[in-house]
Amino acid sequence: MRSESEKFREYAHQFVDWMADYMDNVEQYPVKSQVLPGEIYQQIGQGIPDEGESIEDIFNDFKKIILPGVTHWQSPNFFAYFQANTSSPSILAEMLMATLGVQGMKWATSPASTELEERMMEWLRDAMTLPENWTGVIQDTASTATLASIITAREQKSNYGVNHQGFEGFTNFRVYCSEQTHSSIEKGVKIAGIGKEHLVKVPTDDALAMDADVLLKHIEKDITNGYHPLCVVAAMGTTGTLAMDPLKKIAAICKQHNIWLHVDAAYAGSALLLPEYQHLTEGLEEADSFVFNPHKWLFVNFDCSAYFVKDKEALINTFSILPEYLKTKTDGLVANHCDWGIPLGRRFRSLKLWFVLRHFGLKGLQEKLRFHIELAEWLENEIVKSPDFELAILRSMNLVCFYYKPSSIKNMTIEKQNNLNEKLLSRLNSSGDIYLTHTKIKDIFILRMSIGQTNVGLPHVSKAWDLIQKTAKEILLL
Ligand SMILES: *Cc1c(COP(=O)(O)O)cnc(C)c1O
Repeated sequence: MRSESEKFREYAHQFVDWMADYMDNVEQYPVKSQVLPGEIYQQIGQGIPDEGESIEDIFNDFKKIILPGVTHWQSPNFFAYFQANTSSPSILAEMLMATLGVQGMKWATSPASTELEERMMEWLRDAMTLPENWTGVIQDTASTATLASIITAREQKSNYGVNHQGFEGFTNFRVYCSEQTHSSIEKGVKIAGIGKEHLVKVPTDDALAMDADVLLKHIEKDITNGYHPLCVVAAMGTTGTLAMDPLKKIAAICKQHNIWLHVDAAYAGSALLLPEYQHLTEGLEEADSFVFNPHKWLFVNFDCSAYFVKDKEALINTFSILPEYLKTKTDGLVANHCDWGIPLGRRFRSLKLWFVLRHFGLKGLQEKLRFHIELAEWLENEIVKSPDFELAILRSMNLVCFYYKPSSIKNMTIEKQNNLNEKLLSRLNSSGDIYLTHTKIKDIFILRMSIGQTNVGLPHVSKAWDLIQKTAKEILLL
């Protein structure tokens, strides 16, 4: 009889071979899964099998049933949404994390998990030139970090009253963001009990950035009407177009009115590793909290969201609880990260960050980010040169937003143009060759191409551009 660990070793070797082959061959799969709704579900048996099955059988079903229903986020032909990248050092670290199976909720439950996390947050903070007095902690997602931020603002403003006696006496909070900010802000406002009607969506300017003058007017009007401005969420890189809210102006307004400022840099934050983008941190020293996702454009497997706060005591006072079974001798001496956010249990996520930051090195990361931005610049130039396509908005970093407007059709209505672009997108995505997504800017249907997959290169971008042009010609003939 082979021991459990012998069997494990054998399968693990097989899996690693499969993993390396997958990395080599990822482009041979349709990048966007082409299955129909229910197709996977129908193939999965009903209920837990009575008798245990071999890893071999399960693995075969993984290949046969599951893979066709997978969209290949690690394909360099994936230009949709924002990337959720992996990289080999990150995957290797995930293997170790899975093996250790550590719960890093408190320092004492695995000191290395907490202390490596503290160091990794310092590494990122310093390399990104974030304010030195900030403290960082890993959250699962930017959505959770933003929720933690809104709740902390609420508690600080109510002198920790809502946590104690509920909302009595604290019903008139207001939160502000731009019309372009991510849906996670509204979700956070709802969960934090502020109420969606108390989320003020400030209009944006031509660059789709928040209009700070209008923000100020809203705040002043709300104060006059007896509301309590609680928090402003500014976007450093909106999801639609990577628009940058005017941080310095917004920070000054927040300071003047004593409002919590949270900065959502979920995707674009990685670019702060580049000195040429560090001017974007101007005004950040006045912010109270900041989030960005290494699991997007920093080659760390999902999930890993870096959350920084100016006043860590406010965060801890908001979230800490200490029932008897969680008391340890080192309480008070060390960081217990379960008190720094919503979940109690925490994965050893700093390990993959450590592997990635060390293996790429700052220079390696900078090279990759710059390369992605150059590829986007290349595409932008092609679009500008083309008589049949237009940029929807100036490129921001590695995101290109454009639409099809064939020069052969004069006086096309917006409806017709949108219709053409919708058709184009759907045909491109059902080709399986590339995957892009869309957004709408002022009623215009826009194709978004985010060029940031770990292994993307010029051949992928130029092949995508050829395919877009060719497909655009084809749909005109339909
Ligand atoms: C992706 C994104 C989010 C949400 O990130 P999660 O980690 O999936 O919660 C929030 N804000 C912006 C600007 C984003 O791009």
